[in-house]
Amino acid sequence: MREIIDAKTPFTCETWSREQTRQHFEAAGEHYKVALLDAIPEGEAVTVYRQGDWLDLCRGPHMRNTGDAGKAFSLTRVAGAYWRGDSNNRMLSRIYGVAFADKAALDAHTVMMAEAEKRDHRKLGREMNLFHFEEVAPGSVFWHAKGWRLFQTLISYMRDRQEDAGYIEVNSPDIMERALWETSGHWQNYRQNMFLAKTEDDRDYALKPMNCPGHMLIYGQGTKSYRDLPLKIAEFGKVHRYEPSGALHGLLRVRSFTQDDAHIYCTPEQLTQECLKVNDLVLSIYRDFGFDDVRIKLSTRPENRIGSEESWDRSEDALRRALDQAGHPYSVFEGEGAFYGPKLEYVLRDAIGRDWQCGTLQVDFNLPERFGTTYVAPSGDKLAPVMLHRALFGSLERFTGILIEHHAGHLPLWLAPVQAVVATVTSAADDWAIAVAEAFKAAGLRVETDLRNEKISYKVREHALQKIPVQIALGARETEDRTVTIRRHGTDKTRTMQLDDAVQALAADAQKPASAR
Ligand code: ZN
Repeated sequence: MREIIDAKTPFTCETWSREQTRQHFEAAGEHYKVALLDAIPEGEAVTVYRQGDWLDLCRGPHMRNTGDAGKAFSLTRVAGAYWRGDSNNRMLSRIYGVAFADKAALDAHTVMMAEAEKRDHRKLGREMNLFHFEEVAPGSVFWHAKGWRLFQTLISYMRDRQEDAGYIEVNSPDIMERALWETSGHWQNYRQNMFLAKTEDDRDYALKPMNCPGHMLIYGQGTKSYRDLPLKIAEFGKVHRYEPSGALHGLLRVRSFTQDDAHIYCTPEQLTQECLKVNDLVLSIYRDFGFDDVRIKLSTRPENRIGSEESWDRSEDALRRALDQAGHPYSVFEGEGAFYGPKLEYVLRDAIGRDWQCGTLQVDFNLPERFGTTYVAPSGDKLAPVMLHRALFGSLERFTGILIEHHAGHLPLWLAPVQAVVATVTSAADDWAIAVAEAFKAAGLRVETDLRNEKISYKVREHALQKIPVQIALGARETEDRTVTIRRHGTDKTRTMQLDDAVQALAADAQKPASAR
């Protein structure tokens, strides 16, 4: 590659006849190129690029000459890839590489990739014994005890925040009949992404890919008046969506996941206020998890859309006004909203500069109309409420993966599934270790004991690999004095303390963020 670049060979574009092109590539034994040629629509010009004596069928464009490639490149990986991505075809070799404008940018990228590899949540998930995947359930997580505890801590935190913000929590069925999905439009427009089931009595069911239709039915129970609004219906709803197996990636891209989903039904007059509340809530929540750098994207009316211009004006205005009032910068993506309403997307920047889209806030004109959802206005008229869909973590599975990578597995104390481990240096300390663990547990801390007959250095290494934030070592001395020797993650210093003082200090540090208390 370096020789080719040094030669600064020009790229030139030639237009060939189909016959000439076919003859050339057939003679060269390039039958894949011939197949590509056959796929070019009749009437479209066939172009061939020349670089020295190398000829390639290509639409272009290209650089002026090979020297323009610069020298800041790196070949990163070789992998098998099926011709045209179809596993019925032959497997070819694909060489991956990256190129940058200069060496500094390449070096920064290389450092970031190495850091990303160290933080890979799939590797840390194994080492920390949080979860695994199986061939029999692609894209579905098998949560182990510790991973599930972390997951439940996230739910418990979000439940507190939502309750505080006036949401009610419900639960809707996982499998519902075709008729519902026809009313919602999913059957017509989203079926290829849904897991379907036919029962013995020949009825069509689908696993829910979204929670909204279920919430429409809950809203529809009984008459709602303007006094009931805003009504905020939340659910930790497990949804299933079919993704091609090639797209799956650990916790970040799965087929079944849990949304911290909610639907807000309000009057048009309440819209700005409700958007502002969601915006405040989501930013405050991200801060609690250590994400301070958040980008907001506003997507506006697309070409193909439903709903009146007036309702689009009103909703886009409401979102803009909420963001302006919040004083948070945002970027506008004209025409990128869904056909049924404008939306906000929240993008988190993690510790090594990667962006993750998590939260969404979406206005919807469509579902209230399809379900005939109404409320009784002060005038006595029945009006359609404005509906907002919002998810703040987005997917709990995905958010867990992002959290693990952001913190490189070193979760803040309040989130760590095991907060402290009590390890003995000698078996003479066993009884004291059990008493110490009980004292920590009684203060609400998640603590394990390690009484194995192993060297303490071995135990310490193992617990460090599992990213347990607090290690407590007990030997003959501590047993005699009724003390504990504590080491916190990130420091080599140990500290010997009275048990009561240690419990108090740790319990204070392990509290949920103040916003959730
Ligand atoms: Zn929804």
